[in-house]
Amino acid sequence: MAELLFFTGTMDSGKSTLALQMDHNHAARGRTGLIFSQHDRAGANMLSSRLGLSTGAIEVDDDLDFWEVIVERATAGQHIDYLICDEAQFYSSAQVEQLARVVDEMDIDVFAFGITSDFRTELFPGSKRLVELADRVQVLQVEALCWCGRRATINARVVDGTMVVEGEQVVVGDVASAEVGIVEYEVLCRRHYMRRMTSHAARAASPSPALLPFDLDVCPLPPQPVTQPGAASD
Ligand SMILES: [Zn+2]
Repeated sequence: MAELLFFTGTMDSGKSTLALQMDHNHAARGRTGLIFSQHDRAGANMLSSRLGLSTGAIEVDDDLDFWEVIVERATAGQHIDYLICDEAQFYSSAQVEQLARVVDEMDIDVFAFGITSDFRTELFPGSKRLVELADRVQVLQVEALCWCGRRATINARVVDGTMVVEGEQVVVGDVASAEVGIVEYEVLCRRHYMRRMTSHAARAASPSPALLPFDLDVCPLPPQPVTQPGAASD
C-alpha cells in the first residue's frame, strides 16, 4: 500500500541529504522513481545537499500538475514506484492534493521533504497541507543548532545583516537584488529568535570577540506592539 510521507525540519536538518539517500536506497532495490524539487540552491532542475551530493530533478513550477505528469508518463509506458519531492514547503496546496491522489489512485509512494515554517514562524502552505494530508509526518532527527548550542527550530531571515520578521514569504537565500538587499537565512533557537539575536548580533553585543553573550539579559526581548483589549489580532 503506497503512502504519503512528509519529512520535515529546519534548514540544515539534512532533508535534501535524506532525499538523495532515500532515492539511492529505493533505486538499489530495483524501484524506479522520479525526483522533483523547487528553488534548489544549485539551480533549477537540481536536487542538491549541503554535503555536496546532487542529482537532476524536475522543477516544480506553479503550473506543474503532479497528477498530469504521472498520468502522462504512465500512459507512455514508464513504470514509476515512488516520487521524491524536495523543497515541498514551496508547493501549493493544490499540488500537495495532487500528490495525495497519486498515492491513492496510482499506488505510488510519495516521499516529501520540506521546511515546516517560514522566517515569521508561520507554516508554509505546502507544509501545512502535507501535515494535514500525510499518512505519516516525521521530524528529522539531525538537529540544526543555534549559535548558542541549543536546538534550532526556526529559520530566521537576515537582510543586509539585520534580522527581519516581515516580508514576502518566499525569498531564496544567498542572492542579492536591488529591491530586497542581500538575503540570508540563519537557524536559531526560539529564545534567540524572539530576541532577534543572530550570531552576528551576538558577536556585536559581546564585550570580547571570544565570548558570546549566552546570558539572555544582554539581549532583551524587543518591545511588543500595544494591543487594545478585545481588539482583533492576526
Ligand atoms: Zn540560541
